[in-house]
Amino acid sequence: MTEPEPAEPDLAHPNLARLRGFIAAFTRLIETETAEARVLDEGAALLADLIRVDDWLPTAFAAADPARYQQHLLHCDPLERFSVVSFVWGPGQETPVHDHTVWGLIGQLRGAEASQRFEHQEGKLIPAGPRLVLKPGQVETVSPRIGDIHQVANAADQVSISIHVYGGNIGAVRRRAYGADGAPKTFISGYSNAATPNLWDRSAQARAQPLA
Ligand code: FE
Repeated sequence: MTEPEPAEPDLAHPNLARLRGFIAAFTRLIETETAEARVLDEGAALLADLIRVDDWLPTAFAAADPARYQQHLLHCDPLERFSVVSFVWGPGQETPVHDHTVWGLIGQLRGAEASQRFEHQEGKLIPAGPRLVLKPGQVETVSPRIGDIHQVANAADQVSISIHVYGGNIGAVRRRAYGADGAPKTFISGYSNAATPNLWDRSAQARAQPLA
């Protein structure tokens, strides 16, 4: 059943049905598709649909922190086959050069985000390809198969938000960041938040249903 969309985005009353529907669709995808290329292809289409309308992210998960960029867990699959995270960047904030070790989808919701790929060549880590700037509605992919090392920065002079989907419980994945000299350092990112959005209070909708 399709749940109705509000005429105007009302961020005080986020349309959690949109996020709930995305998680359901992604769970179906991960149940039926194991080939990474297919998951990225079909997952990118689902993510593009999620970020097409900016009416669903609760404000607590859209809050920037002046000290560092935030990574708010929105959902983790119970079998840890994928996780959904909102990355919130204040002006000027950026990541170190880092890898993921699992596939990832990055969808821009607000502002703009610049991504520079890196690759190892002759023992050195060097920039690979152009610096991409992601605008709202656009989706980028990473994975060890197609290129897994990048650096990401807020490319806007306002708060930028991107929605990421990863092929694991990304906050608990052991991966690598690289210093200016290219030396790897192991890290586990964790999450900025202690509680995830309550997607499952459907009581208002249930009460609105006519009695049988
Ligand atoms: Fe990344």
